[in-house]
Formats: sequence, C-alpha cells, structure tokens
Amino acid sequence: MSDTDNTAQHDTEHFIADDGHCTKCRHDVAFEQLDRAIDACVRVSGCDGVAVDAVLIVGLQHVEDDGSRTGHVEVYPRSGAQPSYITRGLISEGTALLDAIYAKGLDDDQ
Ligand SMILES: [Zn+2]
Repeated sequence: MSDTDNTAQHDTEHFIADDGHCTKCRHDVAFEQLDRAIDACVRVSGCDGVAVDAVLIVGLQHVEDDGSRTGHVEVYPRSGAQPSYITRGLISEGTALLDAIYAKGLDDDQ
C-alpha cells in the first residue's frame, strides 16, 4: 500500500487530499510502520513477551515568528485507535515506572 496510490482500490473510506495523497492510505502506512517499530523495540529489549497494546507519545515544539517556543503532546494509540482505558492505563503504568526509576536515582534521562 502506498500513501500516494490513488487507483481503483480507493473507496468511500479514502480521501485524496489537496496534495494528491490519500489520507486513509497515509494513515494505514504510518501505523503499519509503528507496529513494526514496536515489535522491533520489543525484540531489541530482549523481552520474550508479545506486544499487544502500545501508545506513542510525542512532544512537539513550534517556534513562533518572534522566536518564542510553544509545544504540545500528541498521543498515538497502536493501530490508530484502541479503547481509551488501555491507552490511559499504559501511560499511567509508564509514568509509575519512570517515577520508580527516578526515585531509585537510576534516571539517566533516557
Ligand atoms: Zn487510499
């Protein structure tokens, strides 16, 4: 699947944006890449579990014309959507894990 593919496979779920790219295909490709990255990270960590649920949290910064910086956080559930209790649970557990690491003095900002 290509995010630039605008052939007959596109149906009513697909929308070709002004830039010529299909928003649905672009979405699907991005989340397929995220799934592969999640699986690769789990393998690299040496964990023998299966990654079922996941969330990507991204901090974004903008530099305004006057040089001031603003920012916000985006949250991307695995596959683009999952029950919010799963996403919130993952974030909560992740925060607790980081807090515990920080409390032990093992935080190396990684
Ligand atoms: Zn499409």
